[in-house]
Amino acid sequence: MNNAASATLSAKIVEPTIFELSSPGRRGVKMPASDVPTTALPPNHLLRSDLPLPELAEVDVVRHYMKLSKFNYSVDDGFYPLGSCTMKYNPKINEDTCRLPGFLFTHPLQPIETVQGNLALMFEMQEWLKEISGFEGVTLQPAAGAHGEFTGVLMMAAYHKSRGDLKRTKMLIPDAAHGTNPASVGMLGFTVITIPSDSRGNVDLEKLKAACDDTVVGMMLTNPNTLGMFDENIEKVVNMVKDCGGLMYGDGANLNALLGIVRPGDLGFDVMHFNLHKTFSVPHGGGGPGSGPVGVSQRLVDFLPSPLVGIVEEGDDETAPLYDFVTPKNSIGRMKAFHGHFGGGLVRAYTYIAMHGPDGLKDISQYAVLNANYLQARLRDTYKIPYDRICMHEFVMEGQFEGSDIRALDIAKRLMDYNFHPPTNYFPLIVHEALMIEPTETENKDTLDRFADALIKIAEEAKSQPELLHDAPHITPFGRMDEVKAARELVLCCWLPENYDASQ
Ligand SMILES: *Cc1c(COP(=O)(O)O)cnc(C)c1O
Repeated sequence: MNNAASATLSAKIVEPTIFELSSPGRRGVKMPASDVPTTALPPNHLLRSDLPLPELAEVDVVRHYMKLSKFNYSVDDGFYPLGSCTMKYNPKINEDTCRLPGFLFTHPLQPIETVQGNLALMFEMQEWLKEISGFEGVTLQPAAGAHGEFTGVLMMAAYHKSRGDLKRTKMLIPDAAHGTNPASVGMLGFTVITIPSDSRGNVDLEKLKAACDDTVVGMMLTNPNTLGMFDENIEKVVNMVKDCGGLMYGDGANLNALLGIVRPGDLGFDVMHFNLHKTFSVPHGGGGPGSGPVGVSQRLVDFLPSPLVGIVEEGDDETAPLYDFVTPKNSIGRMKAFHGHFGGGLVRAYTYIAMHGPDGLKDISQYAVLNANYLQARLRDTYKIPYDRICMHEFVMEGQFEGSDIRALDIAKRLMDYNFHPPTNYFPLIVHEALMIEPTETENKDTLDRFADALIKIAEEAKSQPELLHDAPHITPFGRMDEVKAARELVLCCWLPENYDASQ
């Protein structure tokens, strides 16, 4: 362990901006003398008198950005147990495949006969996701999970509308849900009905029963939910919603717990988004390209967005099949420009699935669940775990101690001094001072032990030296941020020279 206990290690590195590094006349490139005739400049009113760009040599720019990049923390740096986000290691072979020239340099408007390889990959991806999830159809278009939710809810609305069932306006959403669920529903103008969780972290069946009627569009359920709990009454929940004519939406963000073990389609779900950037190792964070394909049951296949990739001419031993874009009968239409996040999302996830195969995918989920349960068992005596039963791929504990003013935020910040990325905090909302920990399958026992040791040590510090936690982090280039001020008084551009006149 590093010297994290020293509260005086308050390193405050202040990096000069690229403008402060600038020196008039410094150059990153040297242009050859012009060997073409010069022409007149555009008229004066179209010209700027001044363009305050920094002047630096290439090496200065590289060093500046390299330094800034080192302030970052990533899954390639260390443990990143950000609950519900599945920050697993991203195998580097994904980077090789998505940069193969045949994928990298395709233009989305190329003639169909020149992109048969890309279409084959997309077709197979649709098939694999169907097989993994137990659904009848899959669209690869949505840009990320939340976009997949919106796509799924649009299909649910289209389904009811096609049956002339127009009084359905209510969506049932458990109180453990991710904020994107009610947001997606709100975008369609539906009303969210919150269903509480019971004391074991399952959907409260009595409350669900009371809410089920013929005005229900359906239910959006994350299973395992954001407490990391697999709903013990899942079949009853699905049946109750279906008995009142509703559709079941599965939030698939937690699919990393289920691969090769349970298929949401088999459980009776009608629609679910995948987060390829969580479950299938596409890098994310920092705005990454996400990818949120959506799978649907038989009832919804005709409503899938268009286009899908289909086989329009079967192949045989000699010839490959002919792929083309196809449009489902009652399609809700296009959800994304061109064909989703092809290289950054689909090719990487395809590589990952191909590399692991069915048995490997099952291993992934089993190790993810084992790792979470191991950590939960190691921390149970130190931290309160309000829903304390066998968890799936993640668990949630309380970041507070009796008789202490230490909060989850202090613990999260202090973990940074031990070189760990903090867990998700203050979510789900139904746990006080929540710390939501998802280790993923890619961490070994040594890492899990170091992390558990750090959290146990921090619990001791909370008693003996609480100021150490209040002031954390101490070893990062910047200390405790004023997060409220940062959100309220957002400064997006801090690099313009003081005398710069934007009206020029
Ligand atoms: C991440 C997440 C989402 C949203 O997915 P994005 O890809 O971030 O849009 C929805 N629900 C849960 C439970 C999640 O963890």
